[in-house]
Amino acid sequence: SNLNRIKAVNAVAEICGAEPMPAGPVDLGYYAEDVFNIDVMREYLSKSSCEKLLATITKGEPLDPDIAGDVAHAMKHWALERGATHYTHWFQPLTGSTAEKHDAFLEPKDAKAIMTFSGKNLIVGEPDASSFPSGGLRSTFEARGYTAWDPTSPAFIKRHANGATLCIPTAFCSYTGEALDKKTPLLRSMQALSISTKRLMKCFGLPEERVTITLGPEQEYFLIDKHFYLQRPDLLQTGRTVFGAPPPKHQQLEDHYFGSIKGRILAFMTEVEQELWKLGIPAKTRHNEVAPAQFELAPMFEELNLACDHNMLVMEVLRQVADRHGLVCLLHEKPFAGINGSGKHNNWSVAYGKNNLLNPGNDPHQNAIFLTVLTAIIEAVNLHSDLLRAAVTGAGNDHRLGANEAPPAIISMYLGDQLADVIDQLEKGAPTSSRHPGAMKIGADTLPPLPRDATDRNRTSPFAFTGNKFEFRAPGSSQSCSGPNTILNTIVAEAFDRMSDVLENLKKDEFNSGLQKHLQKVIRANKRIIFNGDGYTEEWLKEAGKRGLPNAKTTMEALRCLTAPENIAMLEKYGVYNRRELESRFEVFLEEYHRRIRIEGEIALEIAASMIAPVVTAEYGKAARALAAAKEAGLTTGLAALQKSAAGLGAGLDELNAKLDALRTALGGLHEEIIAAMAELRHTVDSLERLVADECWPLPKYREMLFVY
Ligand code: ADP
Ligand code: MG
Repeated sequence: SNLNRIKAVNAVAEICGAEPMPAGPVDLGYYAEDVFNIDVMREYLSKSSCEKLLATITKGEPLDPDIAGDVAHAMKHWALERGATHYTHWFQPLTGSTAEKHDAFLEPKDAKAIMTFSGKNLIVGEPDASSFPSGGLRSTFEARGYTAWDPTSPAFIKRHANGATLCIPTAFCSYTGEALDKKTPLLRSMQALSISTKRLMKCFGLPEERVTITLGPEQEYFLIDKHFYLQRPDLLQTGRTVFGAPPPKHQQLEDHYFGSIKGRILAFMTEVEQELWKLGIPAKTRHNEVAPAQFELAPMFEELNLACDHNMLVMEVLRQVADRHGLVCLLHEKPFAGINGSGKHNNWSVAYGKNNLLNPGNDPHQNAIFLTVLTAIIEAVNLHSDLLRAAVTGAGNDHRLGANEAPPAIISMYLGDQLADVIDQLEKGAPTSSRHPGAMKIGADTLPPLPRDATDRNRTSPFAFTGNKFEFRAPGSSQSCSGPNTILNTIVAEAFDRMSDVLENLKKDEFNSGLQKHLQKVIRANKRIIFNGDGYTEEWLKEAGKRGLPNAKTTMEALRCLTAPENIAMLEKYGVYNRRELESRFEVFLEEYHRRIRIEGEIALEIAASMIAPVVTAEYGKAARALAAAKEAGLTTGLAALQKSAAGLGAGLDELNAKLDALRTALGGLHEEIIAAMAELRHTVDSLERLVADECWPLPKYREMLFVY
């Protein structure tokens, strides 16, 4: 066949797997070799500069500007030894991806080049801010923005075929101090939670310790062969297929999840890990996911700011290594209709000193702290589930949240049977089950051992307690971790403060009984958010409605709460976002949403009009001619079949034409109309896919993209 689609299948068939690697010892000496980490600092910096820098990094002390020159010099020295000719401030604008503008170290001197890098170059940069989305911030303020070094996330080197670049993680702000990026609010929220955690721990008589917020983001993705990708204008332009009939077999047999990994994919995964390990990113777990051609990568958890930066790099490395392997990594939340989408499970916890506060305690004191923290988080999620939902919006994630295989758009919390029972006892002040006789007494009892058994986990809950951390499952696979964690930190900080307001006023001898009473009260007021059943069912939808839990199904609905007065007040109080920053984000995210929907509508129109309609027209002509020829020849058999085939194609062509017109009209209107018209058009195109001769269908089919690799 001459069809590009068939050629693509044949091309993939030609790809030969490499031989397995011969046996030999492992040497992971390259781990973090491209990171300007503490070991490197010790080696390249003077003792005094190193100590000052470490005080900033590990104790959060303000950066001593006098050491910037030394650090820049050391970084340059190290980077040049490692082949970097350029440096860049690396930042995270509101586009959702990362941005970089490279400058060479090079400076001409006496007809020769020398390599320079100053303290000022390290500390601030001035990218042209006018081309990044800023919402209202740009019209009312100066377009100029600056990037500021974030010493808490180490500089690193990115390599490419002909060289390397020193990347310096930075925050991106306007000259009036407004955050134009995702990192700045995240850092502010970490500060807020750190202060509130220290205050709460003081109520328990603990000495001041460092607060560490931790994150382990599990990254889901699809891989398809590049030959198919290039034949799909929709994937090229939007990251998802706007057409495609689900094949008879997709994921019903559940034979892909945790299945043995194909050689070609393992070769890809191994190279991804090697690249990540060089960057000091602790990629740890790899496996097949539920859908065909879907996979997951999970790192060991790290300090939150670093983990967010690292996840941005994970997404970049996945894409780049895929390209080298003749594959394309799809990070879209829903590349294929009717098949599981991809998320990014956000495993989050808070540690005080060395103690994870979400670790159920072994002694009554620790236990009281755990239950207090847990109760505060229950309150935080119940009071602000709208903000958590808003933090995971996006045109892509809309397809996933609420679709039957993803956590629903309703935010609820899963605690597991044992812990739910403990909370129940605490609330009622009486034993609630025969399994744990005796009511839980704060300050006197320890928790019954909570099993951390994977089978006990509820995969349908958007916000689940999983043994020693909370797993927020609603974030989408393509999203930055910064947004959801900024909200999570802030609402928990607020709940901790409300707890402290009460506990600080308790007398020492009535602390435990007062705490117990207060926890009862908070649980009673917020328990509607706890749901341990199946979140995918119709019954839950109804029940959640009765409980009054918000259910914002679309980005449009979900974003509205960003500018609600009480939310602005709360986020301003914690210094995380001010009103203008929130309004600007509302505007930017809404605008992005509209643009994405419009692009999808336009590509659907173009494909249907210029690739599908001509093929259906030709097929119809063929069928009509065959029918006429048969009649002409005086044949009496096969006429009904020919008639049926021509009539089917003719009706399909009419329908296609009508729906193309409808989409054309809709593109002049609101996005809801575009979405509805696209769905209508898809319905017709997908049924035509089943009607038109396979050898003529121009778009790679689902069975090919998902199974041929
Ligand atoms: P799962 O069964 O959900 O895959 P894992 O135990 O493998 O559970 O953990 C998933 C992710 O959670 C990993 O990235 C892991 O490092 C992370 N994680 C574990 N403990 C914590 C913690 N205390 N804080 C944040 N993330 C954590
Ligand atoms: Mg998990």
